[in-house]
Amino acid sequence: MNSPAVDTLFDELEMSYEPDNIYYQTISAVLEASQRIGMSHREQLILAQPKNELMVHFPVRMDDGSYQLFKGYRVQHNNVAGPYKGGIRYHEDVYLDDIKSLAVLMTMKCALMRLPYGGAKGGLKLNPRSVSTDELMRITRRFTAALGSNIGPDYDIPAPDMGSNAQVMAWMADTYINFAEINNKVEARSVVTGKPLAFGGSEGREKATGQGVVDVLEVLMPGMGLDLSVCTYSLIGYGNVGSWTARLLAAKGAKCLAVMDHKGAIYNAEGIDAEALATYVRETGSVLGFEGAGEISEEEFYSCEVDLLIPAALEQMIHQGNAKLIRCKVLVEAANAPVTPEGENMLVERGVTILPAILCNSGGVTVSYFEWKQNRQSEQWDAETVDRRLKRIMQDGAQRVLLAATKYDCSLRIASYAAALEHLKEIYELRGIFP
Ligand code: NAD
Repeated sequence: MNSPAVDTLFDELEMSYEPDNIYYQTISAVLEASQRIGMSHREQLILAQPKNELMVHFPVRMDDGSYQLFKGYRVQHNNVAGPYKGGIRYHEDVYLDDIKSLAVLMTMKCALMRLPYGGAKGGLKLNPRSVSTDELMRITRRFTAALGSNIGPDYDIPAPDMGSNAQVMAWMADTYINFAEINNKVEARSVVTGKPLAFGGSEGREKATGQGVVDVLEVLMPGMGLDLSVCTYSLIGYGNVGSWTARLLAAKGAKCLAVMDHKGAIYNAEGIDAEALATYVRETGSVLGFEGAGEISEEEFYSCEVDLLIPAALEQMIHQGNAKLIRCKVLVEAANAPVTPEGENMLVERGVTILPAILCNSGGVTVSYFEWKQNRQSEQWDAETVDRRLKRIMQDGAQRVLLAATKYDCSLRIASYAAALEHLKEIYELRGIFP
């Protein structure tokens, strides 16, 4: 349900609210927050739709000599604060509205953390596990060529997301360097972030999102009466974000009781060894069969009593169907938009605190910013410098959200959007609208 003011805006834009549509869910909450902070009507109109939505189709020769047609997206939501920035997802279930929603979240994330970027997101409709390494390289190069001048180090800077990785970023950068009409070919690698260390990557980028989750928890948990060093948690997803969050939480003393991924769920009341599980998942592709825990059903996973439930997989995984099972005190959104509005209402009614995604998982884009900055200054920072600067930015972001929650008397989610929008509002008011 939208507020009447958001409904009026939807009517004006001829958008009809579809409750299951992730883009409408995301933009409604953002517009709700924009009303709270008193954003002007014209600024709300601008934010309600992305600036550009690009869809490309391109053929690629497969290993067996046949040709396959692929579909890719790049959505550029807003660039008032700086170049568009956001990951590229490789997944068979990628749709335009998912990418639009994720692009909005990137605008919000960069604004909340006061990074000099706008928001974008890309997607390629592909299961990366279904193609060979050579095919993945050719697909990535053709996708990059199809995006052409729609990306660039000063215009739109992709990064890895689900299903893509540092190697994919290296192929993207190399393709762009070969195509782009830029004099400084070395600096042109800053067209993407999340690259391998040897090719312009940053120390700490791989673990950055998990590190950011832990930095935020360190600031917020004492105020919620919880102690990181003795808390228990369960985790959805054991990929980049999930596995790094678990390994870093283990170092703080937190105990992981249960993990679920795309193949199944596991449980150990004594705690799951995060490092051993990461090695096992690297070798087998899933948490299932890990000998340090027993297999449980999805229903048992959601019913586990824990202090923290950390979704670090797909969007909309927590909904009214499973929210009733959940027995956690705090839900930590390491994934983007993992909870539907109905799921959120049910959890909030039961006293669960939700720590919003644009705060919790912005460690990734923050270290991407560090990488971009290092590339442009021909510098290489050490791991301690990255960690220290990241922690400072994450802590400042968390404080902004707490302040906004008090100022606007609202949930942490609306507060996170409000704190982000205050920044964008200020920029719009300084810059005005062209012409
Ligand atoms: P990843 O591809 O490395 O891992 C995804 C994990 O999700 C895997 O463990 C997979 O098994 C699991 N998964 C997939 N489908 C599932 C299902 N149906 N049920 C349970 N588990 C399932 O991806 P990632 O990079 O770790 O990203 C995870 C989430 O975090 C995404 O929402 C992504 O947008 C978000 N995120 C990632 C970064 C980053 O730096 N990688 C930054 C910010 C946000």
